[in-house]
Amino acid sequence: MSADPVAKWEEFLSSRYEKEILELADSYPDKRSLYVSFPDLTRYDPDFADQLLEEPEQLLEAAQSALLEIDLPMDVILDKAHVRIVELPEHYKTRELRADHIGKLISIDGLVRTATEVRPKIVSAAFECQRCGYTFYREQTGTKFEDQNLKCQNQACDRGGPFKLILTKSKFVDAQKIRVQESPEELRGGEQPQTLDVELEDDLAGRIFPGDRVIINGILKSYQRSTPQAGKSTYFDLFHKGNSIELKEQEFEEVDISPEDEKIIKDMARDPEIYENIRKSIAPSIYGYEDVKEALALQLVSGFSKRLPDGARIRGDIHILLVGDPGIAKSQLLRYMIKISPRGIYTSGKSSTSAGLTATAVKDELGDGRWTIEAGALVLADKGIAAVDEMDKMDNEDKSALHEAMEQQTISVAKAGVMATLKSRCSLLAAANPKLGRFDKYEPIAPQINLTPALMSRFDLIFVLTDDPDANRDSQIARHILKSNYAGELSTQVEWNPKILQKDIDAAMTVIMPEIEPEQLRKYVAYARKKIFPTLTEEAREYFANYYVSLRTQGHDSNKPVPVTARMLEALIRLGEANARLRLCSTVTIEDAQRVTKIMEACLRKVGVDPDTGLLDVDIIATGVSKTTRDKTKLMLDIIRDVSKEQQGSAPLEIVLDKAEEQGIERSRAEEIITRLKRDGSIMEPKHKMLRLV
Ligand code: ADP
Ligand code: MG
Repeated sequence: MSADPVAKWEEFLSSRYEKEILELADSYPDKRSLYVSFPDLTRYDPDFADQLLEEPEQLLEAAQSALLEIDLPMDVILDKAHVRIVELPEHYKTRELRADHIGKLISIDGLVRTATEVRPKIVSAAFECQRCGYTFYREQTGTKFEDQNLKCQNQACDRGGPFKLILTKSKFVDAQKIRVQESPEELRGGEQPQTLDVELEDDLAGRIFPGDRVIINGILKSYQRSTPQAGKSTYFDLFHKGNSIELKEQEFEEVDISPEDEKIIKDMARDPEIYENIRKSIAPSIYGYEDVKEALALQLVSGFSKRLPDGARIRGDIHILLVGDPGIAKSQLLRYMIKISPRGIYTSGKSSTSAGLTATAVKDELGDGRWTIEAGALVLADKGIAAVDEMDKMDNEDKSALHEAMEQQTISVAKAGVMATLKSRCSLLAAANPKLGRFDKYEPIAPQINLTPALMSRFDLIFVLTDDPDANRDSQIARHILKSNYAGELSTQVEWNPKILQKDIDAAMTVIMPEIEPEQLRKYVAYARKKIFPTLTEEAREYFANYYVSLRTQGHDSNKPVPVTARMLEALIRLGEANARLRLCSTVTIEDAQRVTKIMEACLRKVGVDPDTGLLDVDIIATGVSKTTRDKTKLMLDIIRDVSKEQQGSAPLEIVLDKAEEQGIERSRAEEIITRLKRDGSIMEPKHKMLRLV
């Protein structure tokens, strides 16, 4: 223990932080913080630095006193300045905090989930004795206001009140509470993030917002739990008293890339198979879905956002929706994407938190009953990827906020006097299950997955994945799943079974090994996003324009409402940029344009092909119902009604099918329509092969 910590600080600060102190004095009191790097202190005196970690309360106070001792060339007293420590050696997750850490200076890594408004907090209360008029002060250090057992400080009076709180003479400081949650990338799959409340005061207050990634250096404190019913508990809760905040880089691109990495990355890009290689590195344990994986690769790099001269912003992030039958690996794909994207958040539409997908104002104990803003998944995934599973189950409030979140990439909260706009610059990867369990090809998509066409049109690509039995594909999937499971079995058993050899495991693993290691892929993606900003060539532009116009003309043809919007064109541009980025090229060529148009066309075909004509009918996406399907359903109902009337009872199936065929509806198609009508309760089959309208 050094004899005089104040002297020690004075020596350290005046020798190593002279310049910083002068700068502080210059702009004081607008600036009130002197930032001291912990490694500097360690180099100066390792024991003293260790002591600071152990007894931060006293030593930080000593540092503040030392500031007053230092000779300054100007006439300033730094009595309200703070010494703030940054770059602590060790960072903790909330779940690692133990009783031993209480009272210590520690760093917490996390993601800001909730933040209260900045409000004044009383730190020194002025009380006026109502008997003698004397004013004295009581420091307010805790969370509870202390006005009990006061005694007049006037020796002559010395009475116990009554006292009056004099606000004008009391001292206040700006204060804010935030709640940080563990960063998702540091959690092992499936772990629920834990949270920690943090108090920030003075110039730290009001600097951070929900969605920010931060390192909070501070003193861990505890307070006693108590409830009105049970009184004080023996259990204590933790909170963090912030001493300094370090904002982590706001980027997907926070991945470190060394010059050697850069060389490897450039070599990778030169490989003509680069698209293949990246595709094969996405969820290798999942068989098939080449088209989806290709799109996911594009999503990883995405386009880039642009600001137009008039202030408008065009998003660069690519949104993808996977719709389909249960059990076809949608959730698995989502989880894998989160694993390889540095800033991924996985959540289910039926989210357990009140903030849900977007954000909300909540009234909870953090803000002592005041409204606080809580960030949802899309804010927390800012500059990353938000994977939203079971999107069909999200609630209506989220649904309406999503329109803004997906296009403008902001989320506005205006509730109970709290107004805020949070950023949600992320790519959305969503999965939705059809309401009735299975997907009905002949029904419009939008209502089946409980989304509005307006929301659907905000996705750049929509994949419809149906689980159709196909002997060949089924056996391939089966083999693939069995092989991956076998590999998993071997690598699990090796821990206790010495007979299993590493080379056998490696051999079994090859089926599910990614072409590019996840770590390497992440660097590649980060590099592409950081360094490559492609522009469209003349030909690519022309190609997109023509394709778009051709889609529009189709829409005009058969007196449909105009279905294709300019959004689709923007989507094509984004996809084109992403495609160029994937091979680290700074121009979007006609080949890029052709490749992404093909991908989009394939998606549109799945979503928007009229089952009867086989023609691309974008009307289906926009309004949900294809015209011919609608007509045929109506026709079938008419036929059944007519036949029932003729037969004076139920309509025999055979006769109905014959009539339908006469009117140009194939038997198989007619049977499908009948099945659907039966299921949705429009007709019934009171006797075998006899139909009746309901
Ligand atoms: P969904 O979310 O579509 O309902 P899941 O992602 O939960 O389906 O997948 C169910 C299981 O089936 C997973 O364990 C997944 O690995 C497996 N599975 C389904 N399709 C495939 C496939 N094509 N390749 C490998 N595994 C598959
Ligand atoms: Mg699922």
